[in-house]
Amino acid sequence: MTHRKGATRITSWPGNTVTQVEDATRRFEYYQPAEKVEPPPIYRWPIKPSRIARWFVAEFLYPSGLFFIGLAVFAWHYLTPDISRMATVEPGWVALLWLRNAGLLLLVAGGLHWRLHMRRAQGKKYKFDKRWLAKNSRRFLFRDQVKDNMFWSVVSGVTIWTAYEAATVWAYASGTVASTRWSEAPVYLGAMLIATFFWSALHFEIAHRPLHWRPVYRLCHALHHKNVNTGPWSGISMHPLEHLLYFTVFLLWWIVPADPIVITLTGFFQGLSPAVSHCGFQKVRFGRLWLAAGTHFHTLHHQLFDVNFGHVSTPTDKLFGTWFDGTDEAYEKLGRRGLM
Ligand SMILES: [Zn+2]
Ligand SMILES: [Zn+2]
Repeated sequence: MTHRKGATRITSWPGNTVTQVEDATRRFEYYQPAEKVEPPPIYRWPIKPSRIARWFVAEFLYPSGLFFIGLAVFAWHYLTPDISRMATVEPGWVALLWLRNAGLLLLVAGGLHWRLHMRRAQGKKYKFDKRWLAKNSRRFLFRDQVKDNMFWSVVSGVTIWTAYEAATVWAYASGTVASTRWSEAPVYLGAMLIATFFWSALHFEIAHRPLHWRPVYRLCHALHHKNVNTGPWSGISMHPLEHLLYFTVFLLWWIVPADPIVITLTGFFQGLSPAVSHCGFQKVRFGRLWLAAGTHFHTLHHQLFDVNFGHVSTPTDKLFGTWFDGTDEAYEKLGRRGLM
């Protein structure tokens, strides 16, 4: 484990307030994982099946992939109104869906926030940015980073997520779009569950790059980037216009046949998993285990702004030359370009 002092730079994006620029350029200390950020072995040549199998089980599925699949199955069976009610749009079941999503976000983001940032159960171990979340800062609504992040996540995030999800489940329940059943096509639907993660990652990149075009950045994406130092509630703390774009992830299932569990997983991965990836800690202690949590790759995007627009599992940043692996050499290269 190494610690880097003051390596963060910030460009003077017009949407950032002066305070933010000053704050981010101030020298501070943060944790730099020893391992270099690399694409998964499915993109490496020659193909090594044993390495791919190990990555798939130990990194892709465990722990978060399995957690979100399990949660989607459980939530569909026990926390969701019956599908027969969803063939017609009614405020009652849409409101229940909203409550379910808000409750789960409260559990996942709120739980991580309580443990890591309030109880500070593991201190600053594996914490990327050594500062705690901002209080008394004019940059945030209510002068408080957590309250600001909660407001945008719940009021706008959960509402727009639920609207897209409700529309998509209605399309299935009413027979407006083609669907398939687990009893008819278990292998196909199993593959769709896995595809959800890759689609979400690819969709994130497609939706995210245009948000860095200055006028759009200034209008909406700057709100998410106020969080240079992220916490669990920063995950889907976005401007409503960004939410409208971000949750178009559901639209794939209007073209490709799936089923409501796949749709539920899409919502959970898009709505809940950012609480984990933005939690601020690379690893989180769970009993005796240290589980992978915060994403170093996306944390670097929050710190450096114009690198790592996508996701590790769909490494399109490699194609665009914006891949930043977080090593000393990468920082030196950035420095030589005069950007630090
Ligand atoms: Zn961004
Ligand atoms: Zn982010």
